[in-house]
Amino acid sequence: MLIEGKHICRYCNEAFEWFYLVPQKYNSSRLMDVETIPNNKVGIYYVIKSVEKDGYILPLKATIYCPKCGKLDELEIKYDDK
Ligand SMILES: [Zn+2]
Repeated sequence: MLIEGKHICRYCNEAFEWFYLVPQKYNSSRLMDVETIPNNKVGIYYVIKSVEKDGYILPLKATIYCPKCGKLDELEIKYDDK
């Protein structure tokens, strides 16, 4: 599963788009979903905090390198569902 979002860097205040390929908790016999990696977006660098949901490990807090200033920023990911 691919999740995407927008983040504003706390260092340079520039907005950029990010993506993350969510790993599945269980390796089922079927092949992993094939996702297209967006080439204009920045991948999450490291997941600090995550939650399990429907067999996926969803990131809640992560670090990401800002493509504008190159600094490592922190990112919080919100999900709409209750
Ligand atoms: Zn920046």
